[in-house]
Amino acid sequence: MENRWNDWKWQFANRITTAEQLKRVLPLTPQEQEDIETCLGAFRMAITPYYASLIEPSNPHDPIRMQAVPSILETHADANDMADPLGETEDSPVPHLVHRYPDRVLLLVTLQCSMYCRHCTRRRAVGEEDRAITPAQLQKAISYIRAHTEIRDVLISGGDPLTMSTAKLETIISSIRAIEHVEIIRIGTRVPVVMPMRITTELTDMLRRYHPIWINTHFNHPNELTPEAARACAAIVDAGIPLGNQTVLLRGINDDAETMKRLLLGLVKMRVRPYYLYQCDLSCGIGHFRTRVETGIEIMRKLTGNISGYALPKYVIDAPGGGGKIPVGYDYVLSRDDKEVLLENYRGQRYRYPQPGQ
Ligand SMILES: *Cc1c(COP(=O)(O)O)cnc(C)c1O
Ligand code: SF4
Repeated sequence: MENRWNDWKWQFANRITTAEQLKRVLPLTPQEQEDIETCLGAFRMAITPYYASLIEPSNPHDPIRMQAVPSILETHADANDMADPLGETEDSPVPHLVHRYPDRVLLLVTLQCSMYCRHCTRRRAVGEEDRAITPAQLQKAISYIRAHTEIRDVLISGGDPLTMSTAKLETIISSIRAIEHVEIIRIGTRVPVVMPMRITTELTDMLRRYHPIWINTHFNHPNELTPEAARACAAIVDAGIPLGNQTVLLRGINDDAETMKRLLLGLVKMRVRPYYLYQCDLSCGIGHFRTRVETGIEIMRKLTGNISGYALPKYVIDAPGGGGKIPVGYDYVLSRDDKEVLLENYRGQRYRYPQPGQ
C-alpha cells in the first residue's frame, strides 16, 4: 500500500470519480450525494486519493473539499456566465494553439487533468474526454510556431500536460526545442498540488535536457503545502527549473489577507515564486467562487510592504472577451503633475517626489 500510494499511476488509476466512492472517505448526506450526482453531468469529478486525504472530513467548508467536490451551486446560472470567457477560440489560429500576445503562444496538449478543479476556467473543454493532441495536430501547431519567428515563448498547458507519459511529453518538448527562435518553454501544471508523486527523477531528468524550461503551478491554499508537495517543488527547482505559482482568488477559500499571506510565504519557503493572483473568470458554474474586485485589491494592499516583495504575485483580471491579463491594484500615486508626484506608502503616509527640471 505504502509503495503504491507513492506511485502516481496508482494515484491516477484510483481517483474518486463517483459520489458512491466519495462516500467511503467523506461522510455525505443523501442530499449531498444527490447534488454531486446532479453536477457530474456538467463537469466530471476526479480526486486523487492523495488530494482527498487532505480534506478535513468534518468540515463542509474545507478549502480542499471546496476545490475538489462538486457543489449544487455549480448548477446555478449567473447572468454573466460565458462558455469561453477568455475568447480562446477566437485567438486560435490552428487547433490546440492560442496566439494572443505578440511573442508567446499557449499550446493545449491534453484535455486530461489529474484532478478536476471545481473552479476551472476551461471547464467547457477540460474533462470532456481524455483526448490528447494527435501527432498530426502537433505537427500543425509546430509548423505554425516555426513559421512565426516572433514567438519566443511557448507555454505548454491543457488540461494538465504532466498527466501525459514522460515519453509523450518529451516528443512535444523536443519538437518545440528544435525551433531555433523559441527561447523558453513553459509548462503549466497542477500536478505538484494534486498528485506530487508525478514529479519523478525520470521526469526531471528528461526536462532538464531541454532548458531553459520554466514551470508554473497552481496552489490556492496553505493546506496544500504538504511535505509531499514541498518535495515535488524542490525536485523541480533542483533540476534548475524556475517554479512559479498562479493562484485563483476564490470566495470562501482564500479571499482573506491572513490565508493569502500564509499561502504566499509558504510558497516562497518552498522556493516557489508567486506569479499571478487571478480574479475568478466568468466560466459557467463557478459564479459562487467569485469575489468583488475590491476584495483582491484590499488583500494585495494589506500584504504589500508588509511581506517580502518575492512573496507578492501580480493581481490580474483576465479580461472577458479575450483582452488578456490586466493588472489591477491600489493606486499609490495620489496625484501627478509637471512639478511633482504625490505618493502614499504602505502605511498610508504621504511623500512627494519632485519631477526632474524643477
Ligand atoms: C496567460 C497567457 C499567456 C502567458 O502570459 P504571461 O503573462 O507571459 O504569463 C500566453 N497566452 C495566453 C493566451 C494566455 O492566456
Ligand atoms: S488542473 Fe487546471 S485545467 Fe485542470 S481542472 Fe484544474 S484548473 Fe482546470
